[in-house]
Amino acid sequence: MADKPGILCDLCRSPAVFLDRASKAHLCRDHLMEHVEKETLGDIQRIPDLPKTIGIAFSGGKDSTALLKVFSRIKEDIPCRFIALTIDEGIEGYRQETILAAEETCKNLGVEHHIIRFSDLFGSSLDQLVKGSGRNACTICGILRRRALEILAREQGIRVIATGHNLDDHAQTALMNAISGDVKKVFAGYGPSAWYARRIKPFARISEREVTLYAMLSGLFRDLPECPYALSSLRGEVRTLLSRYEREHPGAMRNAATCEEEIRKKLGETFERAPYQACTSCGWPGSGDVCQVCTVLKGV
Ligand code: SF4
Repeated sequence: MADKPGILCDLCRSPAVFLDRASKAHLCRDHLMEHVEKETLGDIQRIPDLPKTIGIAFSGGKDSTALLKVFSRIKEDIPCRFIALTIDEGIEGYRQETILAAEETCKNLGVEHHIIRFSDLFGSSLDQLVKGSGRNACTICGILRRRALEILAREQGIRVIATGHNLDDHAQTALMNAISGDVKKVFAGYGPSAWYARRIKPFARISEREVTLYAMLSGLFRDLPECPYALSSLRGEVRTLLSRYEREHPGAMRNAATCEEEIRKKLGETFERAPYQACTSCGWPGSGDVCQVCTVLKGV
């Protein structure tokens, strides 16, 4: 947000609502919204071979809500239709409310919406799986959610999925990858895969502040509960650390995200990915005899 009242937009001299601390640019409501929509459209138009339908991974939270709204605003300029895909992990005190918000948003925007539940797919909710496991909730959630989203996308004939990951998410991932010391993580989820639907991230160059403000200015922002597992995750710690650092050193997040993207661009072609092998239990592809989903479900 703009730091002080009375400050004007650099482009039209209307009251500013946003200050980009790195470039020192002030933007009013209309120009901030236009900026988010233009950046997103530009990103989508640069993606080769877009299919007729894109799935939007839609949690009902502010990022995916903003993404859905942007898609509904730029739909005349993109050559495909889109539908919303929601995963219900089964998280008490959090998911019921966000699912209701997701359903209402899709109804208001006139977007086709499909929901899939962990309990239907895997026989247990995330809460039940976490109780019987020594593993971190987000690790279990991430593994199962990827499978659930893939299954839902296949049911709808979707081969490209857009996610609401923003610039801050990418900066956090870059730092988490560096901390892990596992170079493979830099390339995970990128590059061609004959099996999994392609992921696109149209908000990758847009900061969380811009996305949040866009959702608020669109009248779609709601004070929804946060996932109770979020604070105990490594991402939660990295997020707090990076946000504090960004306040003192504006532009740091963009630099971290861009740096990892450049590494991926320069080394992606030469990086050798281990080939998938079929899981001996479920037949889905994985990196060992038993895939991660089956390992989690067996409580290992
Ligand atoms: Fe899943 Fe963790 Fe996100 Fe909660 S915070 S929805 S457990 S990944």
